[in-house]
Amino acid sequence: MDKKKFQELNLSQEILKGVTDMGFEEATSIQSGTIPIMMTGVDLIGQAQTGTGKTAAFGIPLLEMVDGRNKNVQALVMCPTRELAVQVAEEIGKIGKYKKGIKTLAVYGGQPIDRQIRALRAGAQIVIGTPGRLIDHIERKTISLSACSVVVLDEADEMLNMGFVEDIELILKKAPEKRQTVLFSATMPAPIMAITKRYQKEPQHVKITREILTAPSIEQCYYELKRGTKLEALCRLLDMNEFKLSLIFCNTKVMVDELYGHLNSRGYLCEALHGDKTQYMRDRVMDKVRHGKVDILIATDVAARGIDVEGIDAVFNYDVPADEEYYVHRIGRTGRAGRTGKSFTFVYPDEIFKMRDIQRFAKIKIKQEKIPTKMGMEELRVARFAEKVKSVITKGGLNHHIKAVEAMLTQDISSTDVAAALMKMAMEKESGGTGTAYDDINAPERTYSNERNRFESGRSGRGGDNRRGAGQYSRERSGGTRSKGRDSDITMTKIFLSVGKGSGAQVKDILGAITGETGIGGNQVGRIDMQERNTFVHVDSTQADLVVQKMNGKRIKGAKIFAEKAKN
Ligand code: ADP
Ligand code: MG
Repeated sequence: MDKKKFQELNLSQEILKGVTDMGFEEATSIQSGTIPIMMTGVDLIGQAQTGTGKTAAFGIPLLEMVDGRNKNVQALVMCPTRELAVQVAEEIGKIGKYKKGIKTLAVYGGQPIDRQIRALRAGAQIVIGTPGRLIDHIERKTISLSACSVVVLDEADEMLNMGFVEDIELILKKAPEKRQTVLFSATMPAPIMAITKRYQKEPQHVKITREILTAPSIEQCYYELKRGTKLEALCRLLDMNEFKLSLIFCNTKVMVDELYGHLNSRGYLCEALHGDKTQYMRDRVMDKVRHGKVDILIATDVAARGIDVEGIDAVFNYDVPADEEYYVHRIGRTGRAGRTGKSFTFVYPDEIFKMRDIQRFAKIKIKQEKIPTKMGMEELRVARFAEKVKSVITKGGLNHHIKAVEAMLTQDISSTDVAAALMKMAMEKESGGTGTAYDDINAPERTYSNERNRFESGRSGRGGDNRRGAGQYSRERSGGTRSKGRDSDITMTKIFLSVGKGSGAQVKDILGAITGETGIGGNQVGRIDMQERNTFVHVDSTQADLVVQKMNGKRIKGAKIFAEKAKN
């Protein structure tokens, strides 16, 4: 899709001025594609990766379409999180600052509703909110949708992941029949297509593929590691690079908390972000990040999606993302605004096929690199230290210290001895590594045929979308074989969950939800049998009650779960 100049998009002078003030030079691809269509009033799907300017893509048409003389709510935007609602409201507010009489307002849970009600009474044409709070206002009649002619679903995939599907449908049902429905999303999984079919009329679909990936400004590499060495690898890379701000992705909340504990106790300035944190905690973390008080932010995919932080130097995929598209989203968080960024992905040998899938999906080459050995790290530290010493010498002002050193010299102590001792003392103070006995933590080199076999066997269980995970698990984790195997003392209990393939859930979602909610290890979960509407999961019997208790009422892919021990 070609990029257009904003001047070519038939925009008002006020908006053109607003956009210029924002520092936007030209419209992004998704903006070039969707703005003209959205302004004609037809239904629309806009699909593009994170960071491609989707907010302005719908914000600009909204600003052009609402009437500043009329104080009623004319446009409703749904966002998955409070942070996003605030960001979207701010961005639209800034772009529209020269438009007279137009008010943009964010409403979200966690803020006193009275304040929002007062702001709504004063009049707002564009209201941006999280689904729950929007419903609250609609039911209290503090938001009337009678004059609302456009509804926008922003980050639709995230809203679905967060279980908002019923809320979204409720709002769409309450909105006037005659309206424009616009949906923006980075990905278009089946449940979103379903919403599209039900609530949009012949939508136009504008899809921009991988715009950010063509940006050569992200240097991407991966490391194939021996089992159990990720933490050590991470510490070595962090120590080597001295990034100002790194973002580390883990696949589950439990992993995020664990890694936070490890890094924190090793003296790294880090913070963690995931869906279980309260709004207050999240705000505090983001505040620290924005003020440079944190070097490392550890997050899950969902938690990170809502944040817009500038200046991320490096993205670490501590766990290989569960989905190829996630990789693209994750690394897109760095290398923004023309700066260069780096991304590092850790894989274990039995996951190597995932790197192939990612590269194939994203049509990019990710180069493999090696973590330096302990020895290599030591040499690097010494070289760094020597650089620092040289720069201190160059600066001068050492007369006083030279005298002190000279006073120490005797027949047995040379100035070289003194320097070496000082160096040892100074370098011991620096932090380093995890203190494990590992030295070379890279997985052994594989031969070509070996590599191919792994690759093939990795793929073999991965047929259709839903089958892929199931195949893998029935192969690796079948309850039957396992109970006869090494862990023969484990007995498994079958648990019923009221969610199935029909709602778009996959084996990885079930496994992720169980390990994420209960904190039990993936190795305590056995076979996962997914049916259309139900799933049977085998879990370590000692954990069965916990799993039932924690899963009841939770949502997976939007569906609220009923869980119980299966009646065999
Ligand atoms: P998305 O919703 O696609 O993830 P955003 O709308 O949050 O992306 O935009 C990402 C960043 O790009 C924001 O900081 C935004 O101000 C900026 N941006 C948007 N449009 C443009 C443009 N045309 N030129 C330059 N920067 C832009
Ligand atoms: Mg967005």
